Amino acid sequence: MQSQDIFSEINKQKDAMARTLKDLIRIPAIAPENGGEGESRKAEKLMQTLKTIGFDNIERFDAEDERVPSEVRPNIVASCRGKGRGRLWIVTHLDVVPPGEESLWTITKPFEPKIKNGRIYGRGSEDNGQSMIASIFAIKALRSLGIKPERTMMLAFVADEEQGSTYGIQHLVKQKLFKKNDLIVVPDSGNEDGSFIEVAEKSGLWFKIRTIGKQTHASRPGTGLNAHRVGMDFASELDKVLHEKYSSKDQFFDPPESTFEPTKKEKNVDAVNIIPGEDIVHFDCRILPTYNLDDILETAHGLAEEYNRKTGAKIEITTLHKSVAPKPTEADSETVTMLKRAIKQVREIEPRVGGIGGGTCAAFFRRADIPAVVWSTIDEMAHQPNEYAKMGNLVKDAKVFASMAIS
Ligand SMILES: [Zn+2]
Repeated sequence: MQSQDIFSEINKQKDAMARTLKDLIRIPAIAPENGGEGESRKAEKLMQTLKTIGFDNIERFDAEDERVPSEVRPNIVASCRGKGRGRLWIVTHLDVVPPGEESLWTITKPFEPKIKNGRIYGRGSEDNGQSMIASIFAIKALRSLGIKPERTMMLAFVADEEQGSTYGIQHLVKQKLFKKNDLIVVPDSGNEDGSFIEVAEKSGLWFKIRTIGKQTHASRPGTGLNAHRVGMDFASELDKVLHEKYSSKDQFFDPPESTFEPTKKEKNVDAVNIIPGEDIVHFDCRILPTYNLDDILETAHGLAEEYNRKTGAKIEITTLHKSVAPKPTEADSETVTMLKRAIKQVREIEPRVGGIGGGTCAAFFRRADIPAVVWSTIDEMAHQPNEYAKMGNLVKDAKVFASMAIS
């Protein structure tokens, strides 16, 4: 059995996989927006590794960025020629988010990887190192056994995922690197047992509500207008109105309903005895694709006008981010079918196909009309202190990729 040979080859590579992942974790690849130097040093290290695997071609598609010392954001594409039936991409990202509060890293320091109880700890271990190493070692196993994949395997290692993908996936899409009949897997989200295949996402809407009243002394409220009270009242009524008006459910999504959450609250006055003249609160909304974002904004603006008339305050709503959900990848598309089959074979579970609330970089492909799926097996440790990747997931996800490559 060809796949059994491949799987035992991958088992043998377990320590090498862990070593390679640790080597990459040691090199921080933080975006300039977060005070980092970008991904160039990490990309150089990765290039060295890729050269030992025996890919047919390794190419760079760097994007210029003067904010980082190397002045480029690296994107690497390594390919392994197949028997000729199209191409299968596995796209992972090089960049990591900053460690956050360092004192919360109790197992090891963020960029000093450590293995403990079958987990590899370090920033970027799970997001997105695990999938990156899994994709590389899937190809390495095929190479070692002299097995040619069915489709040409295209591994892309991209920059700038955490800050919007301008210098990463979006740059590659602009270079017209992807074709309409390519199959694309983005292993950058998932669940604990690897049973969830993401093919759709909700629309996203962020807005800021600024309420202007009149600041005054807290002992004489009548001489001013408490912007905080009006702001709170408005936010809580808007919360209720949005939930009532846009209440439909779609079980394809998790969670099945649209979400409207008041989130960030900006600081107002410094003293307890001052009535604030300004109040700012933000909303994060994840909306089912059936709803129109402009309609939702209109509802919010309408309610604001009502409040302005009623209270004499001035409420301004500013849209900060608006992304209309792209058309979902078909649940019976070839990528989904192949991935399902591979998961069943490796994990012996029945995969579930659905949508999520969070935006993923698969949206850039879907918007370009190229079907893409998001899948991996993770404990959702991304962006957290003590981030880790499980060795078992590293090995099994590599087997899933290898299984897809030969099917
Ligand atoms: Zn990620």
